[in-house]
Amino acid sequence: MINPDIRDFTRQELAGALIALGEKGAKADRVFNCLYRKGAGAFEAMDGLTPEFKAKLARKYSLAPQPAVEKLVSKLDGTIKLLLRFADGAAAESVVLFNKKTVSACVSSQSGCACGCTFCATGALGFKRDLKPSEILAQYAACRQAAGRPLDSLVFMGMGEPFLNWANVKKSLLILSDNKGCNFPQQRITVSTVGVVPVIKELAESHLEIKLAVSVITADQQQRAQLTPMDKKYPLADIIKAARHYCTKTGRTVFFEYILFDGRNDTPEDARKLLTLIKDAPCKVNLIQDNQAPVSGTADQRFAKAKAFQDIIVAGGIRTHLRREKGADIAAACGQLAAGGEIAEGK
Ligand code: SF4
Repeated sequence: MINPDIRDFTRQELAGALIALGEKGAKADRVFNCLYRKGAGAFEAMDGLTPEFKAKLARKYSLAPQPAVEKLVSKLDGTIKLLLRFADGAAAESVVLFNKKTVSACVSSQSGCACGCTFCATGALGFKRDLKPSEILAQYAACRQAAGRPLDSLVFMGMGEPFLNWANVKKSLLILSDNKGCNFPQQRITVSTVGVVPVIKELAESHLEIKLAVSVITADQQQRAQLTPMDKKYPLADIIKAARHYCTKTGRTVFFEYILFDGRNDTPEDARKLLTLIKDAPCKVNLIQDNQAPVSGTADQRFAKAKAFQDIIVAGGIRTHLRREKGADIAAACGQLAAGGEIAEGK
């Protein structure tokens, strides 16, 4: 049996395990320092620890080699897409996005996805497996390296539904934000869900300070049911109710993501329907243009239509961001991550 990867443990968990091994729990701080500050990839390479202690760790834990990384760079806007292959053949994609002054990364929480949203390339692949905390952290490290500078923000909007792998995602958040770990502020991390209501409620009661994004997709219940099978389990009204509860309990804003499907939900009437749905919620709306289905008109005409939609939401008193598509030439835009189709082929 392979020992568990030491990078799958939070510092608190590791401290508890060390105490059980007859060591001082505080030694977990030094182990974290070696792993996340100095980037040690092997127990022998951990500076400042005695050979006996390192041998003890090696008997109890493993340190999986970092996954192979393939890189694609957009000729349009410099967006970088990374394909990470793990030892068992599972794959996950991450994206590095360059803004005017900042750089952000989008990471995956699962290899594939079981949700089956009809507009999403990941959904079409099906589900391979959950990613472990160490595999999420490997994406963070790979994105940081590819960016060539520290990241300003991190979003869980890649492959998979983060709230269906919440235990592992939560651990990765704790390690990322640990001041002895990666020391990346929780306030700069956004986790996006298609609407797993029980976890939204759990997040409302937790001490985590991450941002929550909820993929409303569309404001029409019947249309939404056709776009995501998840709607059957968690109907839109329940999702909005849970999101409002989250805002009340945390005092934070929720981000609602609305996907503009050409000719299907992008009219002024659709915009007003969205306004009615989210009325009075402390929220911000992110408008994302669908990039899977064939579209009518030029990109400029489409953008003008999206802008008109945005204007109605803004006039309703809600801050709204119309996201410009990035990395379209390397299939790195929202809904396009498909790990080269390899999950479906079981490679
Ligand atoms: S949109 Fe998100 S939840 Fe839906 S299939 Fe794609 S990755 Fe899964």
